[in-house]
Amino acid sequence: MNITLENLKKTYTSSTGSITAVNGVSLKIPENMIFGIIGKSGAGKSSLVRLVSLLETPDEGSVFYNDVRVDNLSKAELIQRRRKIGMIFQNFNLFSSRTAAQNIAYPLEICKTRSSVIKDRVAEMLKLVGLEDRGSAPVSTLSGGQKQRIAIARALAIQPDILFCDEATSALDPQTTHSILNLIREIQAKMSLSVVMITHQMEVVRDACEQVAVLDNGKVVEQGLVTDIFSHPKSEVTKDFLSHISADAGRQEKPSLLRWSEDGGKYTLRFVGSATGEPVMSRLSKKFDIEYNIRAGGIQHLPSEDIGTLITDISGEEGEVKKALAYLKESGIIVEEDA
Ligand code: ADP
Repeated sequence: MNITLENLKKTYTSSTGSITAVNGVSLKIPENMIFGIIGKSGAGKSSLVRLVSLLETPDEGSVFYNDVRVDNLSKAELIQRRRKIGMIFQNFNLFSSRTAAQNIAYPLEICKTRSSVIKDRVAEMLKLVGLEDRGSAPVSTLSGGQKQRIAIARALAIQPDILFCDEATSALDPQTTHSILNLIREIQAKMSLSVVMITHQMEVVRDACEQVAVLDNGKVVEQGLVTDIFSHPKSEVTKDFLSHISADAGRQEKPSLLRWSEDGGKYTLRFVGSATGEPVMSRLSKKFDIEYNIRAGGIQHLPSEDIGTLITDISGEEGEVKKALAYLKESGIIVEEDA
């Protein structure tokens, strides 16, 4: 199911004043993929997801599911529509008094599903999330990762046509994050599900999403394919996210950007795909009368391709430096210069 947002606005008023948490968001979220929405704390992510998932109505603007307007549904229609929306959260929101299986059964009971159907569906969902032997376990005995698996199973038990993941891995350690993201990717592909993933972690976007929108101050400041955003970040917010990216979530590898000097580093060079194999830097110093000093470097592994990053200084006469930069760009390297 695809989602279209047109000029969404939402202002909250409290004793301390009013704040426009969502300030004119227009987005197209294509179907059958994992779409990321990233932003810092307070950027408006949760407010936006409450509007998109029809938990709240916008002050202005509209929400369309498959080109049908859904932000103005009647109460009865809204209940029906919401039954096809799955959600998972950072704190799992499971009933601690119920077993794993009873949690998964809960939304089906609400919809008055026949008990034989519930039994089969719960077994199927437990298998899907790899916990077929934990159905009778009380929720309190499960690890964080297992709780999130049960929450995913519960969200999918209603056979939703969209799944919202609101900071779903933020409470998990890196290794568990990695396994949960892998599970969501597997399920997305198997069920051709549309998934909207809200996060403040660029690692989550890199490891799970195909497209992403970057939210700041209630507005979308950048959007596109994750590979494009990683190789050509435009907004300052995106660049900031990328400069703080840490080791691949949960992979037992060294941090992907190693910095051996906090000083300097005027130029960020990004080597995408085939450019990662070329000895460009040694050619650069042979061809031009410049010197370069590497301050940080590493490789980002995206699902579709690798992006190499070098943070360097390049010194020499102005004209030579200019020619060297032009040569880098001609060689397919993306060059960003610190202002
Ligand atoms: P994020 O999820 O990106 O951290 P939020 O959507 O939670 O951001 O919040 C965006 C801004 O809106 C914040 O300044 C927050 O305090 C404010 N806000 C969100 N929900 C409410 C609410 N129900 N009442 C008052 N202010 C709110």
